[in-house]
Amino acid sequence: MNSIENRHHQLLNRLKSAEVRFGRTPGSVCLVAVSKTRSPEAIRAIAALRQKDFGENQLQEALGKVEMLSDLDCTWHFIGSMQTNKCRAIAGHFDWVHSVDRLKIAKRLSNLRPATAVPLNIFLQVNLQGEATKSGIAPRELTALASAVHKLPNLQLRGLMAIPVPESSFERQRKVFSRLRELQNRLNQALDLTLDCLSMGMTDDLEAAVAEGATHVRVGTAIFGPRNSHV
Ligand SMILES: *Cc1c(COP(=O)(O)O)cnc(C)c1O
Repeated sequence: MNSIENRHHQLLNRLKSAEVRFGRTPGSVCLVAVSKTRSPEAIRAIAALRQKDFGENQLQEALGKVEMLSDLDCTWHFIGSMQTNKCRAIAGHFDWVHSVDRLKIAKRLSNLRPATAVPLNIFLQVNLQGEATKSGIAPRELTALASAVHKLPNLQLRGLMAIPVPESSFERQRKVFSRLRELQNRLNQALDLTLDCLSMGMTDDLEAAVAEGATHVRVGTAIFGPRNSHV
């Protein structure tokens, strides 16, 4: 009885317990089901359970699924690394982008957003722990980037995103997420913004993220099972 449907149900219960435990409104945290490497059939299985939000990190793979599943009412989140040559397709086919970390990319997304579409929702990815191998803007450069992105016409800057170094201690998980929340608070004060979303928390740390104010958790493994390769 370890079907995708069961695991999705269990994950929703896990999310709800965390919301209740940490004083968050039940159902208020958006579950982005990270469907990278998964088949369109697997996505259909949980879309039938009213799972609406899906996250993808490989553009070509994602575009195929977006097209094959266009009969469903899905909300698509791009969570992968950004390159300028991907911006047109991302701006045309996604509703949210979680991984914007430089102005050049943001400008292209804004310029290439179809005129008929609502503004593209944007998270700025922050490299909280100064990892050389990870994308994301350094915290000290965040204010300048946020100020510029906020002014772009076809984007809606919604908040910050981070992927912390894996950490097994719940308290240490929380500490890193609390830094992202504080960065966002300071950004709102400094620039007089009302950023209202935080994209943080995955399979192994979603409770800590919910405790620190996550509005979007990005969960793959707990719903779909282990991935074949490390992607
Ligand atoms: C793969 C991925 C996830 C999901 O990770 P799981 O550990 O499978 O839940 C979340 N966010 C990003 C950016 C990812 O690439």
